[in-house]
Order: sequence, then structure tokens, then C-alpha cells
Amino acid sequence: MEKNWKPELLDIIIEGQIIRKVKKLSSDEIQEYKNNNYECIDLSGKVIMPGFVNTHGHAAMTLLRGYGDDLPLQEWLETKIWPFEGQLSDDDIYWGTKLAVIEMIQSGTTCFADMYFSMEHVAKAVEETGIRACLSRGLIGFSPNKDIALQESKDFIKKWHNKSEGRITCTLGPHAPYTCPPEFLDRVIALANELDTPLQIHISETKKEVEDCYNQYGMSPVEHLEKVGVFTRPTIAAHCVHLSDNDIEIFKKYDVKICHNPGSNLKLASGIAPIPKLLQEGLTVSIGTDGASSNNNLDMLEELRLTALIHKGASFDPLAIPARTALEIATIEGAKTLRIDQQVGTIIEGKQADIIAFDTEYAHYYPKFDLVSHIVYSANSRDISHVWVAGKQLLKNRELHMDTVKVFNKCEEIAQRIIAELKK
Ligand SMILES: [Zn+2]
Repeated sequence: MEKNWKPELLDIIIEGQIIRKVKKLSSDEIQEYKNNNYECIDLSGKVIMPGFVNTHGHAAMTLLRGYGDDLPLQEWLETKIWPFEGQLSDDDIYWGTKLAVIEMIQSGTTCFADMYFSMEHVAKAVEETGIRACLSRGLIGFSPNKDIALQESKDFIKKWHNKSEGRITCTLGPHAPYTCPPEFLDRVIALANELDTPLQIHISETKKEVEDCYNQYGMSPVEHLEKVGVFTRPTIAAHCVHLSDNDIEIFKKYDVKICHNPGSNLKLASGIAPIPKLLQEGLTVSIGTDGASSNNNLDMLEELRLTALIHKGASFDPLAIPARTALEIATIEGAKTLRIDQQVGTIIEGKQADIIAFDTEYAHYYPKFDLVSHIVYSANSRDISHVWVAGKQLLKNRELHMDTVKVFNKCEEIAQRIIAELKK
């Protein structure tokens, strides 16, 4: 990681989806662009940075936000989440994803990873809204629908990978080692080889998961997954809260990319992942919000601040995750995790224009000693005034070009309908 970068006063020239130039232009050069019909936007007083890359979540779970908080994990899943999810239609998932995308764009996320079902409808929401996404149909090996789910995954990847002007990429999404037995994982790996696609998977989220794996297989979930062959495919591992030294060695051996979910891990009392250690070992670490039912928002600024703070507190080391590292984890490291770092994650010539702007004309940005410190420790995501994805402006002076009220009302209606259904 580059440790010494600092903010500079520059102009950015965007042509179509691409960042064409990043340099300080003279007034004559600016006039020449204007003469050639370039739209010129004055962003003086704002901090411009790459958009946030949210590397793990379940977007449509916005529909379950605040439904059944503060419960033990198993009770929460069995009495709240699974019965509610059982009522969700394809159309509900489309609207729930749209609600998530509104929240993400308004809080500066330009790309998100998603693992859910009815993925055609998730892709439709991504296509229409203009955001970037890495999508995977969640696969549960114990489900009676597992064969259909595998076929759906294959069809989905063939239809959507690199589509919507390249904004959509796809991976396979085996849910977790405890929901996918080895025989099923074998089939997932074979399909991943056939389609040449990475895998997204939850690993070692809770202590119980690790204990159960030792009881069943005599080894940790990471050791078990290595034995099954999962890491022969490029892997995005979410959570990774409970890891042994050997688990970390295995991650290094296969260059497994890790997604840290601090808000979700704290709320579900899962623990704190050993992120400083993973970084010291040279592993790629990024940040995810997880679903809105275990967070409860999709605000990446909150997650990156949690990342910068909790590891200091937990390790008694104020240098555990410095502000610049936290910003990189939320941007370029996210792009590396999703294997799109050649396209996004930094503002450099030739990359896709996925850019956000913070309005810094608020009290909490003064005095302006260090803007990186202010973004990490002081900023509010409501300060984000402009967002571009693939060169297209999605947020302009905090205004979104979308009928947000329609989406809010629709999601409220869906939630009330499901609650009434569950009471019957
Ligand atoms: Zn998850």
C-alpha cells in the first residue's frame, strides 16, 4: 500500500466512462475544454476521492432493517430472518435492492458485492440505477432447491457477467462451510472452473461455527475449505473473525481476499476479526456492511471509521489501523478484493470514473490540518454531495435522479404486507 500519498489540488477530465486526465489545468486549458463542449463542474472546496467499494452484503435485506434486533444469532435467524425471507417475492427483492442502492449512492458507495437470491431482479435494479456491482446467487448446499440454485447461478453468470456497460460482474456464492457440505462444494468448484469465476463465501464468522467444524471435521473451517479445494478458485472470504495462525498461513498461500464486517460482527456479538495481523501478513483486506438487518445501515464511512477505531481499542495500539490505511481498505483494497482494481479503486488516468465528492464547508472540517484525518474521523456521509459511477453522475448536490419516495413507499408496503402474512 502507498503510505505517503496526500491530497492535491487537481482537475479531472472524464470522457465517457473513463478518467482521461488528472492534472492541474491552466485557465486557458479549461476554456479550451469548454469550447469543445465539455461540461465543467466547479468542485472547489470539496474533497474528491474514489468511491467506496462495499465487498460484502445482502442488499435486499434493507427490507428487514430493524426487524428483530438484539437477539441471539440462532434465535434471530430462526424466528425472524428466515420466516420473513420465506415471504419475499422476486419483485420485493427488486424494490429492496433499489432501497439499498439509494442508500449506498447517497453515502458514497459506487460498487457493492451482493449475495442473495432472485438475482435477475437484483441485476435489473443495478442496471437501472447506474451503480456498479459484483453479484452472486447465494447457494445453500442443504437446500432442497440446491440443483435449481446451481443452474440459476450458471445461467445468471452467463447472462450478466461484464454486462450493463461492464458495471456488473458475477461470482459464485456458496453461503458458508456449515451450510454447504463437501459434496456440494465439489460441484460449486467444478462450476467455478467451468465458468472461470471467483467465489464469495462466509468463513469463521462465529466461535460456534469454528467449534462445530472441529467437532465434525477435526479441523478449522479454513483448513476444511482448503482440504475440499475451495481456495483453488480466487476467493472472497467474508467475516473471518476467528482465525488460527495456520488459517492465516492458508489464506496467504492462496491469496484469499478478506472482507471485514465490523458493524455486523459487533452487533451480532461475533467478535473482532484480527485485521491488523492480516494486514501485517500482507493479505488484502477490504470492508463490507453485510445486510441491513445486522448493521443496520449500508454506510461505508461508518464501517471504515469502526475499522480505524475498534482495532486500536482492542489492541491498545493507536497505530493499529491508521486513517490512510482505513481509506485504502474502503476503496482500492475493495477493488482488489473484487478483482476489479484494474478498472476502479483509485483516480488515475485510464480507470473508470467512479468518484465521490465531500462538501467540506462545515464546522467539522475546520481547521483543515489534515483532510484524510477529517474524512476518516470527522466526516459524515451526508457531506457527500456528488457521485459518479462509470462516468455518469448519479448524485448532484445531494440530489439523486430517482423517484426515491416511490421506492420508500413501496418498501414500507412490502414490509407491512409480510408482517401481516406472518401474523396469520
Ligand atoms: Zn453476509
